Amino acid sequence: MSMLGGGQEPGGTPCSRAGCRTDASWQVIWRNPRIHTADRRKVWLACDEHAEYLRDYLAARDFPVELATFTPQSDASQTDASQEPRPVAAEGG
Ligand SMILES: [Zn+2]
Repeated sequence: MSMLGGGQEPGGTPCSRAGCRTDASWQVIWRNPRIHTADRRKVWLACDEHAEYLRDYLAARDFPVELATFTPQSDASQTDASQEPRPVAAEGG
């Protein structure tokens, strides 16, 4: 798996904290001024427990960071640039 690209995996939006599998309910929006231009944004997802942890983690590095609520879209229509046909097989797993 590649760490680059920032693609979102379909189905489930877990917290970005390592080892945490809780569904995220927060977006931690940040950027690194050293490597990101002013209009770049990185977004981590966080559960209730880790939203402040991740914010503090970034704030401690003097990164601009803000929290926003995150509403996972269940099987609503997703707007995605790439349209790839998918088989409808959502029974268990
Ligand atoms: Zn978490």
